[in-house]
Amino acid sequence: MKLIVKCAWCGKIMEIKEIEEDEAPALPITHSICKCCLRGLRKQTQEIINNNKQNNNKRR
Ligand SMILES: [Zn+2]
Repeated sequence: MKLIVKCAWCGKIMEIKEIEEDEAPALPITHSICKCCLRGLRKQTQEIINNNKQNNNKRR
């Protein structure tokens, strides 16, 4: 059966996987993250880390 892999961030369908019937989940859909969103998320995370570092430096 087919399993739809969808990006949890933008909702884009990334791929449709062919899986065995006995390992199928209740809903034939799974969430992942696409390369686009992953890049954005990494950038955001890095910015947050950098901001936190700056704030910590200010406090000292
Ligand atoms: Zn995405």
